[in-house]
Amino acid sequence: MSGNATRLAAISAITNATPISTEMPEPLSKIWASDVFSLAKMEESLSKKAFKAMKETVHTGVPLDAATADIVAAAMKDWALLKGAKFFSHIFYPMTNATAEKHDGFIITKPDGEAITEFTGSLLIKGEPDGSSFPNGSLRMTNAARGYTAWDPTSPAYIMNTPNGATLMIPSVFMSWTGEALDKKIPLLRSNAAMNKAAQKVLSLMGETDIATLNSSCGAEQEYFLIDDNFAANRPDLLLAGRTLFGAAPAKGQQFDDHYFGAIPERVQVFMQDFEDQLYKLGIPAKTHHNEVAPGQFELAPYFEAANVAADHQQLLMTVLKNTAKKHGFLALLHEKPFAGLNGSGKHVNWSVGNATQGNLLDPGKTPEENLNFLLFCGAVIRGVHLYGPLLRAVIASAANDHRLGANEAPPAILSVYLGDQLEKVFKDIQNGNIEPSVCGGEMDLGLSQILGFTRDPGDRNRTSPFAFTGNRFEFRAVGSSQSVSGPLVAMNTMLADSLDWIATKLESALDSGKDQTSAVISVLKELMDLHGNVIFGGDGYSKEWHQLAVEERGLKNIPTTADALPAFKDDTVKALFESTGVLSPIELESRYEVYSEQYILAIEVEAKLVIDMATTGVYPAATSYLTELTSSIASASSAGISLDKGVATSIASDADAMMKSVAGLSAAIEVHDFASVEDHMQYCAGTLCGLMGDVRKYADSLEAQVADSAWPFPKYSEMLFIK
Ligand code: ADP
Ligand code: MG
Repeated sequence: MSGNATRLAAISAITNATPISTEMPEPLSKIWASDVFSLAKMEESLSKKAFKAMKETVHTGVPLDAATADIVAAAMKDWALLKGAKFFSHIFYPMTNATAEKHDGFIITKPDGEAITEFTGSLLIKGEPDGSSFPNGSLRMTNAARGYTAWDPTSPAYIMNTPNGATLMIPSVFMSWTGEALDKKIPLLRSNAAMNKAAQKVLSLMGETDIATLNSSCGAEQEYFLIDDNFAANRPDLLLAGRTLFGAAPAKGQQFDDHYFGAIPERVQVFMQDFEDQLYKLGIPAKTHHNEVAPGQFELAPYFEAANVAADHQQLLMTVLKNTAKKHGFLALLHEKPFAGLNGSGKHVNWSVGNATQGNLLDPGKTPEENLNFLLFCGAVIRGVHLYGPLLRAVIASAANDHRLGANEAPPAILSVYLGDQLEKVFKDIQNGNIEPSVCGGEMDLGLSQILGFTRDPGDRNRTSPFAFTGNRFEFRAVGSSQSVSGPLVAMNTMLADSLDWIATKLESALDSGKDQTSAVISVLKELMDLHGNVIFGGDGYSKEWHQLAVEERGLKNIPTTADALPAFKDDTVKALFESTGVLSPIELESRYEVYSEQYILAIEVEAKLVIDMATTGVYPAATSYLTELTSSIASASSAGISLDKGVATSIASDADAMMKSVAGLSAAIEVHDFASVEDHMQYCAGTLCGLMGDVRKYADSLEAQVADSAWPFPKYSEMLFIK
């Protein structure tokens, strides 16, 4: 079939599609975590002693002894075999946003040829994938290319089902033989530990005596688009780059909000229910789902969990999303900006820290004491965002997210903190000396009583802020939809650790100087606000005035592209932050910078090649053959005495010519390879290559609006977005 014929066939296939029928869903009580080797299942199958050791490991992270590991491995194997698993796999998260696996059979054969199954504690604990096939930045040079995976017992093992079998999946870390982190999980675990250590100091100074281990929590809202598979098959750009590199704006986009507030289409509804059932089986607490702003866009938010588990679940959720969508005839797009001119997709990372004894420390609480702890932790976040804003920008940087940040839909590329009117006033009052506990006789009453009644007001939300306080947590809204949440969580936990450490030092000396607790807290927060209060902003983050004010008067950085953002990893303050907290050594940080910048360059180069390919083999042939048809119609009309205007023909010819000139320019530009530095190479991608791609697109999209609809090879925006 010619290009346009497959496009038209796709439309008719989809128009006649009906929702696939799935089995009647089982009740939640029956499926919830049924494929997870949870603590509850361990309790059933382990001895009391082994279970106690295991529980201790899960809750505190202390290593498991070899004997217990053997017992757990045997129980896990028995459980998995009963579930039909023949294979097991350590699953880990390399420095890219990918998920990696290496599968091994439980089977071993005896000399007599009989097959038995075996799974020991050491197989459970350690695996050896071929480390050299994963990007490891400069670590490749300094170490043997091999790496190994090690079980993370704080994240439960589970069964992954495919139509033909089941595999036991074992969440793991991935490191080099010399112990350097090669993955996204190790720094997350370390950042939690660093945060806990610093938080313990602050809480002890606040007079708390019973302080359980602190952990960070994460609830990530996932946005995505669904496109029918038939359309996707005719869009090489969607298949290979995850976004449309061409596509004229449809007459109707998202301006009516009819999708956002409308009913979920039936095919999508059926898919969502199936998707959620798959998540429930895996113990992922899917909580809300709804249409999003753009047509064809949806969101799913699981209930929040411990950050480490939430991060693993997020990766799994993306895999299950793609697989389930495929089953229902959809391609799930996790790209940050699949369609120009329409809202892109993000992953709002809701984050808080707390423990079993003090609760959520970002919850204002009900008593004055809780309020003081809350104010200190909240202040620590304010300081963190101010000092490490460029780092927060760097951890969400990608070629894809660049299309979204700074546009009038997603948070701007300037990192500021939104607190809400009430809380902003509390911090400003502290700064301006309007809260003077000593005036009230050392008692905390008038001043702080204003926040005692502080309640979450969802209406108070500022959707233009990249980093917003939302009642009992912060919401980092600038994270990209396809990204691992680990990077952002690591950055937030680590900046918090650093700030809490700073607060502990200041608090200690204020207390030593004889101040009572409340006065000491207020004085530390006043100093903090004087130094960092500039980062608080409650206005419209999209406005021109803010961009000017932020940069010129407040000294905040506007960091528009990945090429500008990633070098933050080389910054001395960032290096010192990670080294002092023990989260990443300088060489680990450097290797991350290398991997991320390489990924950025590769992403842009792949897109550039696709643009050249689609323009040359799709757009140009369609335009010129239609032009031939059009000019011959004009000629025959003219010989019949009818004179037709040649305007469209002339314009098609000139756009097609101009497009191919831009293609030639882009082809030459991607051949340039000699750059003085990685930074120069990234800037070249962000500037020259992206600019030239934009030129080609401009002409191609103009051609789409002129060439006969029946002759156009690629599914159009209006079709992909509105036909379900
Ligand atoms: P909205 O769309 O208003 O932001 P959602 O309910 O869609 O709200 O998503 C909010 C997310 O925040 C959910 O994943 C929720 O579980 C999570 N969340 C709620 N409380 C906390 C908390 N204390 N810490 C971390 N995440 C939280
Ligand atoms: Mg949200």
